[in-house]
Amino acid sequence: MLRESFHNHTWRCNHAENTERDYIESAVRGGMTKLGFSDHAPYVFENGYYSGFRMKPEQIQGYFDTLEALKQEYKDKIDIYIGFEAEYYPKFFGKFLKLIADYPVEYLLMGQHFIHNEMDRMDSFHASESVEKLQTYVRQVAEGLSTGKFACLAHPDVLWFTGSKDIYQKEMLIVCEAAKKYNVLLEINLLGVRDGRVYPNPDFWEVAGQVGNTVTIGSDAHRAADVYDPKSYETAMGIVKRFGLNCVNAGEMIKGGHWLG
Ligand SMILES: [Zn+2]
Ligand SMILES: [Zn+2]
Repeated sequence: MLRESFHNHTWRCNHAENTERDYIESAVRGGMTKLGFSDHAPYVFENGYYSGFRMKPEQIQGYFDTLEALKQEYKDKIDIYIGFEAEYYPKFFGKFLKLIADYPVEYLLMGQHFIHNEMDRMDSFHASESVEKLQTYVRQVAEGLSTGKFACLAHPDVLWFTGSKDIYQKEMLIVCEAAKKYNVLLEINLLGVRDGRVYPNPDFWEVAGQVGNTVTIGSDAHRAADVYDPKSYETAMGIVKRFGLNCVNAGEMIKGGHWLG
């Protein structure tokens, strides 16, 4: 049963719908016991670059105010946690950490939708046979994990590589080993299942099984109806069984000593 999910968005990212309360009600109806919000994190860039798929810095306060109030209101029904899903952008990561330092952030997910520093818009999620792009993703993710700030790597298999399986698995071994070394959970992403995307990618999870990574399941809900998603969860659990993965509840990620403000 899907009891805990720490990968859920809000309308602030400009590509999600419904209210935070709707998400919580959906989780409660499904019998979930822990729900984490991890909206696309605000990032401050330079030269007027504007990122349209994440909350703005001036929306952080409202995010916490709204969720803190709901956390109190629902405390007898479900435990609410507040975090962010963020890319690791080497050039701007320090400024990002400063930006959120004064807020009661409980955890960070890494979701590397873009590589480099986003401004050149090199995304992870379009088909590419470029080994160089694959290697850039791998190096950047491994470096991000080594910061110790991230509790979980969301959809580690978001990078869509159309080249050989051998090369893919050799590179992803670096990601899996880094996740293990820095005690970061790997997420099997239910949005990928729900939407029929290229992830979850069995070639990735085969490597995670060999490395012995600890994994978890995330709804990646962008609307209330997807918070509790038992059908996609069953598919994800099929991957867990197939590769003998050690799957834990999402709530484990706040025990890892990550994100110390
Ligand atoms: Zn999103
Ligand atoms: Zn997400």
